[in-house]
Amino acid sequence: MDFAYDDQNIFAKILRGEIPNKTVYEDDYALAFHDIAPQAPVHVLVIPKGPFMSLDHFTRDASDAEITGYMRAISKTCEMIGVEDGFRAIANARAQGGQEVPHLHVHLLAGRPMGPMLAP
Ligand code: AMP
Repeated sequence: MDFAYDDQNIFAKILRGEIPNKTVYEDDYALAFHDIAPQAPVHVLVIPKGPFMSLDHFTRDASDAEITGYMRAISKTCEMIGVEDGFRAIANARAQGGQEVPHLHVHLLAGRPMGPMLAP
């Protein structure tokens, strides 16, 4: 699979500071920020700082440190937003996955029952 990262995507622009975001958590490996169109009372996106398009791209090509750092950042973000009652994590990839922004992001959704995993 050829992963051709487009550095003009909106999350790349957020990482470069060209577009503002509502930051929840940030470290050397990841940035977490509120989704601009929340689909639950809590809807936060966690993105790695490296140029990775999708979860399969990231887990193939990122370094061990980047993978560990990103996963730990998801944990830190969960601590920040409070997910004691549960949450859903979603990582859409490419067309059939419904991915709109071609930079890996995990959606963290919380604050209400999430219902069935997939729409009928
Ligand atoms: P996906 O369909 O998985 O690629 O999800 C992309 C998400 O990015 C959607 O939930 C959008 O609402 C969100 N989004 C798009 N632009 C921004 C932005 N500038 N700041 C925060 N979230 C955004």
